[in-house]
Amino acid sequence: MELEVIIGLEVHVQQKTKSKMFCACDNASEELPPNTTVCPVCMGHPGTLPVANKEAIRWAIRAALSLNCEIPESSKFDRKHYFYPDLPKAYQISQFDQPIGKNGYLEFIDPDTKELVKIRINRLHLEEDAAKNTHYSKDTLVDYNRGGTPLMEIVSEPDITTPSHAKAYMQELRLIMRYLGVSDADMEKGHLRCDANISMRPKGDTKLYPKTEIKNINSFNNVAKAIEFEISRQTELWNAGTPPTTETTRGFDAATGTTQEQRSKEGAKDYRYFPDPDLPPLKFNLEKPTTSCEEANSGHEINVYCLKSSLPELPLDKRRRLMGEYNLSVDDANTLVGQKELALFFDNVISELESWANDAADLDWTTQKTALTQLACNWTINRLSTLLADTDKDLATSPLTAENFAELICLLSTNKVNSTNGQKILEIMLDKGGDASAIMLEHDLCQMADDGALEGIIKEVIAANEKSVADYKAGKEKALQALVGQVMAKSKGKANPQAALELMKKLLA
Ligand SMILES: [Zn+2]
Repeated sequence: MELEVIIGLEVHVQQKTKSKMFCACDNASEELPPNTTVCPVCMGHPGTLPVANKEAIRWAIRAALSLNCEIPESSKFDRKHYFYPDLPKAYQISQFDQPIGKNGYLEFIDPDTKELVKIRINRLHLEEDAAKNTHYSKDTLVDYNRGGTPLMEIVSEPDITTPSHAKAYMQELRLIMRYLGVSDADMEKGHLRCDANISMRPKGDTKLYPKTEIKNINSFNNVAKAIEFEISRQTELWNAGTPPTTETTRGFDAATGTTQEQRSKEGAKDYRYFPDPDLPPLKFNLEKPTTSCEEANSGHEINVYCLKSSLPELPLDKRRRLMGEYNLSVDDANTLVGQKELALFFDNVISELESWANDAADLDWTTQKTALTQLACNWTINRLSTLLADTDKDLATSPLTAENFAELICLLSTNKVNSTNGQKILEIMLDKGGDASAIMLEHDLCQMADDGALEGIIKEVIAANEKSVADYKAGKEKALQALVGQVMAKSKGKANPQAALELMKKLLA
C-alpha cells in the first residue's frame, strides 16, 4: 500500500522579556539558583492577582504578524486546568478560543530542491510556562524559576510532509524569532520546544486518521529523527493491517532514537477551559494612530498598525533582496541570513563598499557592483565567519568595522593585496581594529607591483632549483607548485600567486 505522511508541529517559544508573564519577577532566571525568582503571584498563592505583561503581548503580536497571522480586535486569557507539580495553581493561564493570531503561514526554502515551501499556521497564542521538573531515580525536583515565563504556542496546520521539512520549518521559525529579538530560541536550552503530530493514510485518501503526538524533542536533528522513526513504526502497523485507532502520546528517546508510549492524551474538555476572571479582556487597535506610533505605544493601548510598521526585515525577505539585488546564490544568501549578526554586518559592508567604490579612481560601483558584493560575500562567509569561530570572537564587540572591512575588499579587488596578505590584514583588524590600507603599509603587505621585481625573483628561484626545474620539465606538475611556493616565500607573500605561476610557466617553456 502506498502511504502518505501528515505532520503538524506545535512549537513553544519562550520570550526573553524583562519580567514574567503575569508578575514582576525577573524573567532571566536561567542561570540563577533554583526557586530564587519567584513571588506569591507566580507561586499561585491564594488572594494574589495576575497582571498581564504588555511587552509580552506586543511581542506575541509581532511574532504573529511575522507569521502572516490575522490579529483580532480582541483577545482574552483562559484557565487550562490540569494537576501536576510544575503548576502550583493547578491551572495554567493560556488562551483557548481567542488566540493573539490565527490563519497565518510560514515559508521556507527547501534545503534540497531550493524551492519555496509554504506551511499554514493555525494559531499563535500566549500563555505562561510551567516550572521545570528534574527527575532523578527516586525523586523529582521542581524549579519554579521558569514558571510564569511568557510562552508562545505556535500551531501549524498538518501541511508538513517530510522529516526534513519539519526540521527546516523549525529552523526558519528560530531565525524569525531571533530577527524579531523576542527569544534566543535556543532549542538545547529549551527556549524553543517542539511536539510533532504524525499520522499516515493511504495515498489519495482525504480523511485524517488518529495521530500520534511525539513530545520532548530537544534538537533540530531529533525533530527529523523522531519523525523518521514514527513514520517507519506507523508504516509497519499499516502494512500489518493494524493502523493506529486512537490518538496516543509518545516520548522521543534520543539515546535509542525511538519513541515510547506515554499517557493517553487529554481532550480539550478534560482541561475545563474558562475565561480567567482575574484578567480583563484584551483590546487591540488595528487602525493607524492619529498621533505618532511612539506616543501610541507609550500608553496602555496596543496598536497593531504600529507594531506591524516597526517589524524588521525578516529572513526570507532578506534572502530575496540579497539574491535579487546582488545576484547572490541561494546557498550564499542562506548562509549569511542564517547568522543575524553576520547578515546585518554584511548589509553595512555593502553600503560602505558603495561609498569606497564611488570615491576610488580605479573602481566603478555601477559596473562592478555584482563582482564586489560577491567578493565581500565570500570574504564574509569563508574568512570572517571562520575567523570569528576559530578565535571565539563576537562581531558585535570586536573592533572590526564595516567600513574597514569594505576597504579591505577594495584592496583585494584592485589587486593591491593578495588573499594571503588580505587574511593577515583581516586578522589584525579583528584583533585591534584600524584601516586596512594603513595596516597594509605598516606591515608591508601590499602586493608586488608589476615592475620586473617578480621576474627577478622567479629567475633566482629557477637558478637555485635545478632539480625541481628538471622534474617539472619531465612532467611533474607538483614541482611547479613547489617553485611558486619559493617565489611567494622570497617575496614575503607579496607576489600575486596567479601572476607568479603564469610567469614561471612562461620562463620555463
Ligand atoms: Zn513572580
